[in-house]
Amino acid sequence: MAYNEKQQFKSRRTTLMGQISDGAIIIGASHNSPRNNDVDYEFRQNSTFWYLTGFDEPDAVLVLRPHHKDQCVIFVNPYDPQFEIWVGARLGVDAAPENLDIDAAYPISELDDQLPRLLEDIETIHYSIGSDSKLDDLMMNLVQKRRGLSQRGGVHLLRIEDPKPAIDRMRLIKSKAEIELVQSAIDVTRVGFENAMRVTKPGTFEYQVQAEMESHFRKLGSVRNGYPSIVASGTNSCILHYINNREQLKDGDLLLIDAGAEYDYYTADITRTWPVNGRFTPEQKEVYEIVLASQSAGIKAISPGIEFNEVHIASLRILVQGLIDLGAVEGSIDGLIESRAYLPYYMHGTSHWLGLDVHDAGPYRDEERSITLEEGMVFTVEPGLYFGNQATESPENLKGIGIRIEDNVVVTAEGYSVLSDTILSSVSDIEELVGTV
Ligand code: MG
Ligand code: ZN
Repeated sequence: MAYNEKQQFKSRRTTLMGQISDGAIIIGASHNSPRNNDVDYEFRQNSTFWYLTGFDEPDAVLVLRPHHKDQCVIFVNPYDPQFEIWVGARLGVDAAPENLDIDAAYPISELDDQLPRLLEDIETIHYSIGSDSKLDDLMMNLVQKRRGLSQRGGVHLLRIEDPKPAIDRMRLIKSKAEIELVQSAIDVTRVGFENAMRVTKPGTFEYQVQAEMESHFRKLGSVRNGYPSIVASGTNSCILHYINNREQLKDGDLLLIDAGAEYDYYTADITRTWPVNGRFTPEQKEVYEIVLASQSAGIKAISPGIEFNEVHIASLRILVQGLIDLGAVEGSIDGLIESRAYLPYYMHGTSHWLGLDVHDAGPYRDEERSITLEEGMVFTVEPGLYFGNQATESPENLKGIGIRIEDNVVVTAEGYSVLSDTILSSVSDIEELVGTV
């Protein structure tokens, strides 16, 4: 790992230790998960472990002890020449301390013996119970053993506390380097979307458009997607997390794609909706312009110091006015928001945090209130309108239309920056590009 990168992971560990101050923090890596026989599902490190270590091997355990000489200890799989022949080199115990800038490393096989020793004089363990069944068992055994030992003069283990809120709060505010990685993920995603638009035409299958898009993700350095791509044509666009992607595109239908390339562990989360034949029908266009105006209102509301929920409300007001204009609902904007009469057409939130995870870590509320926006927060703005089967009252001419437009923004000192504003979204730009291959 490069020196700069190492520094960044180390400084996060230092910050976390400063916040926890007493006891020890224990964070487990992901494990391989078997797919069949000797084949595993593709491995991806859990984001929090990555955030604190930059280490992408399975099974490791990180132990942070702010008041001990070896503050930062890691348990890793051993280097194994046989494993290297079949799968590739592992970092191993000897190389781990220098490579990860960590004080000491042990083989993971010694965890059961070494962990109780590392924790023997510690009263509070910060560990997320339920995050790892092996570590859960180890913790329970430890509680039991320490109860016995405290009878004979050992230090009583008083608490197991969840470190997740503290870590999630850190992950919520992105550094400049993190924002650059999200930007890289978005830049790759943009090329994928543009090419997906180019190859869209009636008769093509959803998975073929997906293949075109994702091939550009891969070619541009994204080793995997941030989440399974949603490539939804016709009424499938009303299924929020449709990932079947096997339908044939029909003349006159819309195609909604919600996808994001992952780049060095950070992901984009972009949605665009366009006509399969390259021309919006008047109805499709009317709904599209409402969603686009709603998104723009949400984005313009963003600035440090406002409540997160204000973005949603700003977007929602435009959507509801649009539903009134379309004849889908009747009443006043405030009354319809109060009674939630828009829910059959808009049933998801407008925004979520974005970063290492597509639905990234971080609280949405602070006590009773919606959280206050701060510089460095990265999130999506993604209003939509869906006239699917659930919208039984929807006007006949709108049935089957599902439109979502999703962009990624960062809160800046002065306001906001739309990281994905290079991905075209106006009706005229889309109509110009779709089907040009
Ligand atoms: Mg999305
Ligand atoms: Zn999203």
